[in-house]
Amino acid sequence: MIRTILDTSVKYLPGVGEKRAVLLGSQCNIYTYKDLLYYFPYKHLDRTRFYRTTEVREEMPYIQLRGRMGTFRTEGEKRKKRLIATFSDRWGVVQLVWFNSISRIQEIYKPGQEYIVFGKPARFGSTYTIVHPEVDKADDPKARHGGTFYPIYSTTEKLRKAGLTSRTLCDLVANCLDIVMGKMQETLPDYLIQKYHMLPLEDALRSMHLPANAEMLRRATLRLKFEELFYVRLRMRYLHGLRQTNTPGYPLTRVGDSFMSFFNNVLPFELTAAQKRVVSEIHHDVKSGRQMNRLLQGDVGSGKTIVALLAMLLAVDNGCQAALMAPTEILAHQHYETLSVLVKPLGLQIELLTGSTRMREKNRIVTELESGKVSIVVGTHALLENYVAFHKLGLAVIDEQHRFGVSQRSVLWEKGGECPPHILVMSATPIPRTLAMTLYGDLDVSVIDELPPGRTPIETRHCYEENFAPVHFFMLEQLQQGHQIYVVYPLIEESEKLDLQSLQEGFARMKECFPAHRVGMVHGRMSAQEKEEQMAAFSSRDTHILVATTVIEVGVNVPNASVMVIQNAERFGLSQLHQLRGRVGRGAARSYCILMTPQKISADTRRRIEVMVATTNGFEIAEEDMKLRGHGDLEGTRQSGIGVDFKVANLTKDGRVVQFCTKLVDEILGADPLLQHPANAVLLREIRESLEHEKDWGVIS
Ligand code: ADP
Ligand code: MG
Repeated sequence: MIRTILDTSVKYLPGVGEKRAVLLGSQCNIYTYKDLLYYFPYKHLDRTRFYRTTEVREEMPYIQLRGRMGTFRTEGEKRKKRLIATFSDRWGVVQLVWFNSISRIQEIYKPGQEYIVFGKPARFGSTYTIVHPEVDKADDPKARHGGTFYPIYSTTEKLRKAGLTSRTLCDLVANCLDIVMGKMQETLPDYLIQKYHMLPLEDALRSMHLPANAEMLRRATLRLKFEELFYVRLRMRYLHGLRQTNTPGYPLTRVGDSFMSFFNNVLPFELTAAQKRVVSEIHHDVKSGRQMNRLLQGDVGSGKTIVALLAMLLAVDNGCQAALMAPTEILAHQHYETLSVLVKPLGLQIELLTGSTRMREKNRIVTELESGKVSIVVGTHALLENYVAFHKLGLAVIDEQHRFGVSQRSVLWEKGGECPPHILVMSATPIPRTLAMTLYGDLDVSVIDELPPGRTPIETRHCYEENFAPVHFFMLEQLQQGHQIYVVYPLIEESEKLDLQSLQEGFARMKECFPAHRVGMVHGRMSAQEKEEQMAAFSSRDTHILVATTVIEVGVNVPNASVMVIQNAERFGLSQLHQLRGRVGRGAARSYCILMTPQKISADTRRRIEVMVATTNGFEIAEEDMKLRGHGDLEGTRQSGIGVDFKVANLTKDGRVVQFCTKLVDEILGADPLLQHPANAVLLREIRESLEHEKDWGVIS
């Protein structure tokens, strides 16, 4: 059904037709008028200004001249044959040069007539030339390119072959704009447009393509950026609000025996102020009678596990069960080990359930989960299996959320019983603020922004591979003091074979360099059991050096390891380096991270290394990572389940707009949570329409 004129197929646009329509669809995802109008130029060339021929310099980008065509002549033979015309204004002369379409050019352009030419100048000897200039008659009313900001669209080989050049696209867009003007629905409420002096949608769209000047282009961009970010946020918060009013959760009001006894008798340290704050945020949520969806962010080692445990004990104290789900077997194991020690003195039953749990054991655990005998279960994806049912699942904690998709969270929802469980997502990859606000707008966010006291920050150094000797001595010194060392090699899919080889060489080399010490190796190609054995050997100090790939990135905890050597550090992203570094510095000893690279590294790599050496603050690193790579590549965005496909906005650069939108959305929903006020009707319509287009992620997170 065609709802508005914007949904008209592009094939009906004059100048398109069936064939080109198919190409536009397959090459650029342009199917409708709307798609075309939102296919924005990637840049504009400034054609508001005419230069004098005497001002031309070869270092200039594209420039525009106005003058008269002189006479044509050809030079050279065969492939070197070219057509040359002089072009003069009142001040001087340049040359125009063509290598193709020589006879056609001579037919179209008439010596003595006035033209506007546009192109990139070059210099040959003392003359300036423009090769293959764009030429328009100076008085051509259709040559709207002169005197404007001229849009450049990205095209493909196939498009250009079908005559769909950037210039044709510009003409098509201009046609389309003329057709839809006055017929488009405004997508923002009037009061917002008035209050913030925004361009109306139609004007903004026109100015995105054919702005009258730089200021209009800026205003158009701002309006559309705002709109994109605003609606992402509004939609999430609106749905979040609906869910809060609609979705009941188990009211975990009682702070009972388990919690108190743990707090008074087991907890071996004082909670940090940040931990206390987060525990009370969680408690506030779970006792409200509504279901909690909270993201717990905190750097590696900031003490998220204890916070999660306290939340789980709250669930237990109120007659519910709690589950903790980790992305890998190793991690699940470690959580289980840590938690068992803390939970068993309380007389609670805790179990571990993973893919490799034996069948009989599995059956027992499942039965006892269903009967309610088990209070806390730690596991992997295995917890999501159909055969796992709970007596009354009150809280699900999910560790390292990016490795789970949103849809997996939804499976947990079903397992709650009368109510969906409260959900606490723990993320150790700090996410820049703007990104968190946008991607996780549907979750409430708690941040532990303080490390437990007494930690010595990890010292980070950069060394060149060619210069391994001092590193060798340093490692030896640390080993002799009884510490252990990780040596990490990159492993990426494209060059898996080569990488595996260098890992094995590294393993051999370490054995050779440290004959008095034992060296282990772990990588992703090993079976789960082999991996586990290797980890266990390192953990129990049977091996002193562990040569590894990034399989050790997440969660591994060996407090006696004090050195992390990262080989080919240039091949790791910032967040990854940070995660790896977090594997050391977990005990009392001073710890070190050594980043090894070749001598020759790119400017970007150098910047990454500098950042690593300068700070251990995960949030700073995440911000920097986003600046260097853009949000699209950040870990977490791709698997977040919410496509971050912005056409105009850029989370990396538009932090201020994000913040503005966040505040504005809070204001609007604060005053009108269900968007029932007539002035907000537009907002509700837009949200509904966008939901029709995609699955409703907001409801299942
Ligand atoms: P995260 O999961 O956030 O990386 P953990 O919860 O594993 O961090 O905590 C890291 C280490 O710090 C653990 O050994 C934990 O016992 C310890 N720890 C946590 N909170 C505190 C605290 N408030 N004071 C001292 N040590 C703490
Ligand atoms: Mg942890």
